[in-house]
Amino acid sequence: MGIHLAPPARLGSIEGRTPTIATLCSHSSLQIFHGARREGFPTLGITAGDPPKFYDAFPLGRPDRFLSVPKVSELPSSAATLREEGAILIPHGSFVEYLGPERFVALDVPVFGNRAVIGWESDRRKERDWLESAGVLMPLRFEEFRDIDRPVIIKYYGAKGGKGFFLAKNRADTEAFHPTGPYVIQEYVLGTRYYVHFFYSPLSDRGYRVGSGSLELLGMDRRDEANIDELYKLGSQEELQRAGIRPTFVVTGNVPVMLRESLLPQIFDVGARIVERSIELFGGMVGPFCVEGIMTEDLQFKVFEISTRIVAGTNLFISGSPYSEMIEPGLSTGRRIAQEIRRATEEHRLAEVLS
Ligand code: ATP
Repeated sequence: MGIHLAPPARLGSIEGRTPTIATLCSHSSLQIFHGARREGFPTLGITAGDPPKFYDAFPLGRPDRFLSVPKVSELPSSAATLREEGAILIPHGSFVEYLGPERFVALDVPVFGNRAVIGWESDRRKERDWLESAGVLMPLRFEEFRDIDRPVIIKYYGAKGGKGFFLAKNRADTEAFHPTGPYVIQEYVLGTRYYVHFFYSPLSDRGYRVGSGSLELLGMDRRDEANIDELYKLGSQEELQRAGIRPTFVVTGNVPVMLRESLLPQIFDVGARIVERSIELFGGMVGPFCVEGIMTEDLQFKVFEISTRIVAGTNLFISGSPYSEMIEPGLSTGRRIAQEIRRATEEHRLAEVLS
């Protein structure tokens, strides 16, 4: 028996019945519903106000039913309805963000994965402690401006999509930085970005073994970020600064990428360390997570962020990725989540994958 994440009372609403896969209609929800449907689960889409009309355009991604609430922050008052529906909530980036991490953690409805991870991910310093103590290479951090000896990126806490980040090529450049909130100063890592989609199953006893389960690589993407990705077309950094144009890192889309095969051992090692340390720190991270890092020219992968749930980049691979194709044809992350729930139901191990 593995680690129990859910107290027995939490699972009462889904005992002895086929659960309904539910999530907030946004982010990666079409993929989550599509995957759940392929695995034979009923689906429920939570919406703030009326259901989005464009869902009608995707009959295989649209949920079977909708639950409308006036505002996402008011979802806790519908917890009893969700339990009556036999819902299992699937967290995604927008769901946790719009509801608020504290409200999400407090919801008395079964949630896929370990909700304790939210407290570790939403605090940049705790996240860094987790990753560093796992032995994962991260960008250097500078405590004081006077210590800066290389290009840096200054990030605000909780900055959404990198808005307001400040880039400086050296210490002198940072004089133009006038903070408007708490921030961290990080080495600006030069290289190529990879956003690696992993899935950790505590139930699986085959494949790449980690802990008592296994680690799967389901896909990889790179984010399109405005305006930084196209900024070079307008002129030099100096010219842009004079014109009052600053770089921003707002995600607008995703493109698929592959890593050199010889780099896969390094990537798996990073994923395994993060999972192993999560088991020691808070009982383990279950299901999808994304390791976001930069591969340098000397082939070192420096991790600047981890997302501990399904990321929108997985939407590229609704019908499978070049990696997941070697696990099972047509396997998306959304479908993999549904498979894990089905297996846990069949083996009476739901407490190990829900919380
Ligand atoms: P999101 O909430 O969208 O994940 P965020 O506000 O948490 O964004 P990060 O993911 O840390 O911010 O960074 C946003 C972008 O900034 C990254 O996708 C990457 O392009 C760039 N970036 C972040 N850290 C570094 C770094 N140390 N070196 C170079 N680029 C970086």
